Amino acid sequence: MDKEKIRKAVFDILCAIGEDPDRPGLKGTPERVARMFEEILGGEKRDISEILGRTHELEHDEMVVVRDINFYTMCEHHLLPFFGVCHIAYVPDDRKIVGISKLARIVDVLSKRLQVQEQFTNQIADALMLHVKPKGVAVVVKARHMCMEMRGVQKPGARTITSVVRGLFRSDMRTRDEFLKLIE
Ligand SMILES: [Zn+2]
Repeated sequence: MDKEKIRKAVFDILCAIGEDPDRPGLKGTPERVARMFEEILGGEKRDISEILGRTHELEHDEMVVVRDINFYTMCEHHLLPFFGVCHIAYVPDDRKIVGISKLARIVDVLSKRLQVQEQFTNQIADALMLHVKPKGVAVVVKARHMCMEMRGVQKPGARTITSVVRGLFRSDMRTRDEFLKLIE
């Protein structure tokens, strides 16, 4: 990430909004913002295929659900945060199981880039389908968007819910219902 470029750009934004970037409170701001962007948008170098690549064989072919995975990310339309929780479920195929912490790790990786909630939800499901090849995947993301709360429609506390179902969760209503009950 080009931190020097960010530093200059933030300096320019401060000037453009009529601030004095040299006053004591703002003196270190461009540098701090540059470091922050690196941390929240560029800090994750690990590849998803590497994280999900190692699967285990286990005598388990029932649904696995990890709920309430917290995340923070940035909306790509306004560069403001959106954050919330994510629930992920999959039904293993051929007893191929992935470590539960790995599911939280892909959420981390995917949240450390500019995002749109619908795309974020899809990417989590796609990553699992591609690398773990389960019978099905379901992902639900519930988030609060600062671009809807601080500006625009200004609806504090409103939550946006997106869901993606693939494979068995799409074709089998009982599997889908079981998932929905488990994340209630
Ligand atoms: Zn936005």
